Amino acid sequence: MPVAKSGKRTARLSLAARAADRGGGIRADVLACFAQDASGLLSPDRLLTVLREAGILPDDPRIAGTTAFLDRARPARATTDPVLLTKEEFAAAIRPNRGIIERAACGELAVPDFPALVADLQRIHQEVRNDRGGAAATYIPQLARVDPDQFAISVCTVDGQRFSVGDAGVNFCLQSVSKTVNYCLTLEEHGPDTVHRHVGREPSGQGFNELTFNKAGLPHNPMINAGAIMSCALIQRELDAADRFDFVAGTWKRLAGGHSVGFNNSVYLSERSTADRNFALGYSMRERGAFPPGTDLLATLEFYIQCCSIEVTAQQLAIAAASLANGGVCPLTEDPVFSAQTVRHCLSLMSSCGMYDFSGEFAFTIGLPAKSGVSGALMLVVPQLMGIAIWSPRLDGHGNSVRGIEVCRRLVDCYNVHTYDLLTGTGAETGKRDPRLKRHQSATEGIVGLCFAASRGDLNEIRRLAACNVPLDAADYDGRTALHLAAAEGHRSTVEFLLSRGVDPRPVDRWGGTPLDDARRSGHQELARLLAEAGKAAEPSTHR
Ligand code: GLN
Repeated sequence: MPVAKSGKRTARLSLAARAADRGGGIRADVLACFAQDASGLLSPDRLLTVLREAGILPDDPRIAGTTAFLDRARPARATTDPVLLTKEEFAAAIRPNRGIIERAACGELAVPDFPALVADLQRIHQEVRNDRGGAAATYIPQLARVDPDQFAISVCTVDGQRFSVGDAGVNFCLQSVSKTVNYCLTLEEHGPDTVHRHVGREPSGQGFNELTFNKAGLPHNPMINAGAIMSCALIQRELDAADRFDFVAGTWKRLAGGHSVGFNNSVYLSERSTADRNFALGYSMRERGAFPPGTDLLATLEFYIQCCSIEVTAQQLAIAAASLANGGVCPLTEDPVFSAQTVRHCLSLMSSCGMYDFSGEFAFTIGLPAKSGVSGALMLVVPQLMGIAIWSPRLDGHGNSVRGIEVCRRLVDCYNVHTYDLLTGTGAETGKRDPRLKRHQSATEGIVGLCFAASRGDLNEIRRLAACNVPLDAADYDGRTALHLAAAEGHRSTVEFLLSRGVDPRPVDRWGGTPLDDARRSGHQELARLLAEAGKAAEPSTHR
């Protein structure tokens, strides 16, 4: 902004606005998103609405500077008049957090069309809530007493876009979901070689608390009880019990965006008094010499049960899942909780072992790393895209949340997020959409690509685009089609291919021109004859 050149204008600017200008102007297309009226004044409410639609919520620490500025701008007395800011004031408000705000306003975040994802999650929640199949865990009264109808879905993308539906603010205990973070902590502290001298990394193919070990006498993997007990034996061995627990709870807090997690003491107490199987697993492992020397078995088992009794909300669990999706860095606080290597190992084992003895089926149908717990929690990770938490207490025979699994199924039905969807793509054939694309981006890119390929006569590329369901008779904004461009450039085999695929031979562009006109104008007489014949054979067309 040319502030310095205009003394008159400078005089009208507030101090903060001048500070904004020193840092460079805010992008014009960003300001245009918030334009209020002809007066050029801008609305802070509109700013918060645009951010919320993009999934950036008002409590996001990355917009704290802006929300504080807007709070100061609000009049002290209650008034019904909407607060409006000048362009300069508005720029000053955005300035402290301009990076994230500009990206949100321009649809440049991880899920550009966030409202579409929100609509899908709302629909899925609505549909799946009618499913009352399965039963809540009853092995301890504290789980049996939870209202089994509760149901939350919460999502957080790697750019910290958040949305929740249902009982997403209600606490539930992590149970087996705690196994993921405990495994990550062992890797961070000891590295995979040491850790895997004490625990395997093969699916067990058996229930989560089965009394079974691998050939080396070690737990099969860290995602079942025996392996998770082993993780607890490896975490911060030199600390006392209280500090070890604080260390794990503090890690969950960091993963979940800095909000403290809870602890359910009655779950802990009743788990402890009914933990015969976990004690049996512990003693069996000790008998086999699986633990590192000097392990205090009882303290280890107590620590394991405490970790299972940590409580989170679906909102927090989604942020933690997003931190894993983001290579270990919390998207809201940018706190690097785990190294990318640690997360890679954890996601690998979540993919093969995270869903109990349903893991193989889950990997086949859903194709994403996930971890469930007997509280009905399910943490799903779409690497480099988002974390999803689903909580609903009724469980199936494997111990997985019935609604949790169904939500995963439906998500993978509408989005190409199964790891190997990369091979089958998106579009009409698969019925799947790519959440990474901007609104209309896939269609637009396909059409632009097709027109370019036609103008170059690149038949291979045209065939590839056709295989990806790009309609061969699609027109660009000017009504120009692949056939117009191939005709204008004299690419006979492209023209023949398009006609053989049944495209309309006489589409009309916005200037009233047909491919025949293009061929004639460019002196491609043979092509013109071909197009004229095809045109005669076809019905008169008004395609645009
Ligand atoms: N506390 C439970 C147990 O150790 C946790 C198991 C689970 O969620 N699958 O048996």
